[in-house]
Amino acid sequence: MTSSHNSPCNRAHSPAQNRGRKQAKPAEVCPHAARCGGCAYQGIAYKEQLDKKQEYEQKLLSSYGSVSRIIGMDKPYHYRNKVHAAFGRDRYNNIICGSYEESSHRIVDNTACLIEDTRAKAIIEVIRRLAGDFGLKIYDERNGTGLLRHVLIRTGHKSGQILVILVMASTFFPSKKNFIRELIRECPEITSVVININNRRTSMILGDRQYTEYGSGYIEDTLCGITYRISPKSFYQVNAVQTELLYTKAIELARLTGSETVIDAYSGIGTIGMTVAGHVRKVISVETNTDAVKDARRNAKANNISNIDIYADDAGRFMRRMADNNETCDVIFMDPPRAGSDKVFLNSILKLMPSKVIYISCCPETLARDLAVLARRAYRVAAIQPVDMFPWTSGIETIVCLERR
Ligand code: SAH
Repeated sequence: MTSSHNSPCNRAHSPAQNRGRKQAKPAEVCPHAARCGGCAYQGIAYKEQLDKKQEYEQKLLSSYGSVSRIIGMDKPYHYRNKVHAAFGRDRYNNIICGSYEESSHRIVDNTACLIEDTRAKAIIEVIRRLAGDFGLKIYDERNGTGLLRHVLIRTGHKSGQILVILVMASTFFPSKKNFIRELIRECPEITSVVININNRRTSMILGDRQYTEYGSGYIEDTLCGITYRISPKSFYQVNAVQTELLYTKAIELARLTGSETVIDAYSGIGTIGMTVAGHVRKVISVETNTDAVKDARRNAKANNISNIDIYADDAGRFMRRMADNNETCDVIFMDPPRAGSDKVFLNSILKLMPSKVIYISCCPETLARDLAVLARRAYRVAAIQPVDMFPWTSGIETIVCLERR
């Protein structure tokens, strides 16, 4: 989430640089900031954070076109709907839980956070206490012993649903039923509990096996009027409030007429495609994660969206096959992970030659790299719209509208 970049912004929070700086009003500083490192903009007023992101985008992207003013968040706190806590013990044998210190596996025992959902944070504290009461063995990364490794919580912004995922090192979980019963008794807002088994010595949080202990095993949430099912492993934007603004702006920039065939590439659980579906003739969504694809298909059915086809495939290879079969499309919405797109994908755009490409990116650097290819070959950049999806961190989301020359 915290796509880091080497902009001056990343260093801007250092006290030395801030000395003498005039600030609009004092900004909050999280007590864990020094060790956590998750929020690069600690102590910087929100308006100033936006100015810095704007400056960075301008520096990186203005050679392609003018950069519109970044869309900020009205209440830039506790927006993160996916909250992770690694569990361990300190040298006094106390249970600690929180995020990892930057570039390390040392746990920052943080009880408060400016950006994480407060209900999720409170549930993690209850789990910490219950783990002690029940004598649940905490995983020790150094020698691979113990059971409880991580807690991952997903919360639905509109639905209020809360999914708790307990990541265990083995299927052995003494007093499991009692533990979960007590957890739900103390936190009745929890709607589902999933046990995930991760027995590998890996930095990945989730393992391959999981089963539902309580509730449905997923959460639902509503974005732009459409309700989605979100499984534990499916990607879902961490800031639902800003995601609605992001999608609305992206669709506005595409200036759709209603007759288009649209590709929604890197589609996750289908949120962009289904939001666009009401504005076009047909949507083709493509996504590699099979859990997300299953969610997307269910979501389309549950919302009675019939003009969308959802494929489990590599987006680039899928589009290359479309081009080879002389199929066409009018607009491509693409929303790749931080690594951006690959050559196969970019070349397939240049074969399909849609009249517009709406590139949504969470990493300005890979966006700039990919724009260089598209702008050099066939497209002009018609609009660049940054959106602040990640207040307090250096992350920036950007929508770019490309039009065929
Ligand atoms: N558009 C969605 C998801 C964006 S995140 C949303 O707004 O919620 C990027 C997604 O791309 C993830 O779901 C990831 O699984 C998927 N992905 C990564 N590489 C891919 C590839 N080569 N082809 C298709 N999908 C890919």
